[in-house]
Amino acid sequence: MSRRVRIGVVGGGVVGSLVAAGLAGRDDVEVICCERSAQDMQIDVGTGLNIGPNGVKALRHFLPEVAESLVAASLPWFEWTVALTDSTPLARFELDQLADNPGLRIGWAALNTRLRASAGAAIRYGTDVIAAGQDGDSPFIDLRVDSGETHRIDDLDLLIAADGRYSVVRESLLASDTTEYTDVALLRLLCPAPADCPIDDYGQWFNGPNRLLAFRIPGDRVYCAGAFPLPGDGTLTDAMKDPLAISALFIPPSGQVSPAVRFLLDAILGSGGRLHWARLQERATRLVGASRVVLAGDAAHPMLPTLGQGATQSIEDACVLLDEIRHALAGGGALQDVPAQFAARRQQRIDFVTGFSRDATDTMRAGADPVAGTARKLEPAFLSKLQQLYRDVPRPR
Ligand SMILES: Cc1cc2nc3c(=O)[nH]c(=O)nc-3n(C[C@H](O)[C@H](O)[C@H](O)COP(=O)(O)OP(=O)(O)OC[C@H]3O[C@@H](n4cnc5c(N)ncnc54)[C@H](O)[C@@H]3O)c2cc1C
Repeated sequence: MSRRVRIGVVGGGVVGSLVAAGLAGRDDVEVICCERSAQDMQIDVGTGLNIGPNGVKALRHFLPEVAESLVAASLPWFEWTVALTDSTPLARFELDQLADNPGLRIGWAALNTRLRASAGAAIRYGTDVIAAGQDGDSPFIDLRVDSGETHRIDDLDLLIAADGRYSVVRESLLASDTTEYTDVALLRLLCPAPADCPIDDYGQWFNGPNRLLAFRIPGDRVYCAGAFPLPGDGTLTDAMKDPLAISALFIPPSGQVSPAVRFLLDAILGSGGRLHWARLQERATRLVGASRVVLAGDAAHPMLPTLGQGATQSIEDACVLLDEIRHALAGGGALQDVPAQFAARRQQRIDFVTGFSRDATDTMRAGADPVAGTARKLEPAFLSKLQQLYRDVPRPR
């Protein structure tokens, strides 16, 4: 009997789980997916996310059962409204005019749980990959398990770097490149939604460039993300993290805020400072790591989060990777060509999405005017790009 193909996957997040799910149950391939967290440990459980209509559409083409599992665990994302914090409306984007289906609103824990369940036994939890390399034409990974023991997995036919924004595989195999910081701080929190909660579908509220974003997710909770430009050298100080200081950023000169903004500011004030913090950042796109090594998701293209496309593009990546691997396993091509074929199918789309996310960040930069900036987003040029984003998803070969 011929040897089964061995595919190593580093990271059991969005990309890793989906690739493992799509190859589960095959007897011609062994998938070894190494995930550093423990099975029951959730990263970023205290947050939510929206998956763009394009992520749902792509999943329906390639992994329909996973798509329906996520739909069942989420709320539909139908519209995106923009207003000033004093309640002056600026824009309403109705996704049924711009996309072929709604997007999703979901909690991180629910997303992770559903994706990892779909991957089954392929994920080895508590397995930290500490380095990756090439032995001739074959990639290998060095890993450390929970007991502290280290060992090497070699003789891989394909290695997939799905280990996120701080990818060890990328660091091991490619010359390190710089992280581009945008001087905007981002805070996130998840709070309970009482019966009279004024937040439902996806909304944004601006006071100058300071922006609140929020939507409801299942389990009667509201996910909120606040963003504001960082002055000076871009350092986020403890004083800036004070809930009272944060709240003041969103109060307009009139002192009047809409009920939705009041609710969000009360949630921030009541958070006891337990907020998740980040600074906007991105890195160059790298889709090919070496012969037989492919990078996908945040490991390949850590992008600005403005259009909520990080996980969504990771889903698209996983779909195309699966398509290429299935094609090679069916004898239509060689597994060693998967990285180049994947890059050929993804590069243009990723360039478009990363550039579009960067452009859409205009209203969040220091000195930005959200009224003029949002008006530009209602013009045909922006709307047609949104349709391209939400509709032009990868299709099976
Ligand atoms: C709070 C928050 C909110 C977000 N909101 C949105 C949103 O609304 N919409 C959207 O589309 N995107 C959003 N994103 C971005 C999105 O989460 C990422 O783009 C997406 O998760 C990337 O998927 P991935 O599979 O590449 O990496 P991840 O999902 O980050 O998975 C990487 C996995 O690799 C594991 N890992 C890392 N290093 C190693 C190692 N050395 N060895 C073994 N395992 C390793 C990690 O534990 C993790 O499980 C958000 C991100 C965060 C943190």
